[in-house]
Amino acid sequence: MRVIVLLGAPGAGKGTQAEFLTERLGLVHLATGDLFRAAVAAGTALGLAAKEYMERGELVPDDVVIGVFKARFAEPDAERGVLLDGFPRTRAQARALDTALAGEGSAVERAVYIEVPAEDLLVRLGGRWICRAHGHPYHELYAPPRVPGICDEDGSELIQRVDDRPETVRARLDVQLPALAEVVEYYRQAGVLATIDGTKPIDVVSGELIAALEPRRGKAA
Ligand code: ADP
Ligand code: AMP
Repeated sequence: MRVIVLLGAPGAGKGTQAEFLTERLGLVHLATGDLFRAAVAAGTALGLAAKEYMERGELVPDDVVIGVFKARFAEPDAERGVLLDGFPRTRAQARALDTALAGEGSAVERAVYIEVPAEDLLVRLGGRWICRAHGHPYHELYAPPRVPGICDEDGSELIQRVDDRPETVRARLDVQLPALAEVVEYYRQAGVLATIDGTKPIDVVSGELIAALEPRRGKAA
């Protein structure tokens, strides 16, 4: 089973590239952030458990996240192969993923790290809009929708995430960048890491990701 991990700081472009990659590679997009936002919107117990952490820009505790991942991963469509976006985000999550995959006789094929400096992340998150229906990402300067305020894909309205407010953005980067560095190192040591320059335009990054994911041709970094 094909399992690819998309790594990057908040705002690096994971969701943007996941849209393209899942279509191109025929994989299922599994984004823990999207699952949590849906749970918060639906007011479920999971949503209640995650909401405060998300609003403070903190990481949701590992046991909750790992449970959510396993439940989604157990759904039948995941057999097509998955592109993981926003998971794992800690070393404990990365280990739990390895254990879950080993139980299926599988392993992470590639972890692609979209690298973007912190100063760019502030601009990206500050100008990000997502659609209400499916969370498709836009940017007011870099990736505007065809019709202002409306999603190109599904016609739903565009909204700003509560955790994209400037004060929460800083808290998210403070908490999440050190954790990300550990996960990047985890996959470097496992020999499956590829690093992509995420400061380039969206279509250039897409091309470099596809090149890195070609079997046996992607350069390990
Ligand atoms: P993540 O899922 O990693 O948090 P997103 O895919 O939501 O990041 O992207 C964050 C913001 O940056 C969005 O507003 C998106 O439109 C914009 N963006 C994504 N990739 C690029 C890029 N290569 N150049 C400029 N802006 C980008
Ligand atoms: P994202 O949409 O990936 O930016 O995630 C939004 C928020 O959900 C994060 O800031 C965290 O609070 C929470 N979250 C998503 N994925 C994880 C994860 N793997 N581990 C911990 N928290 C997560």
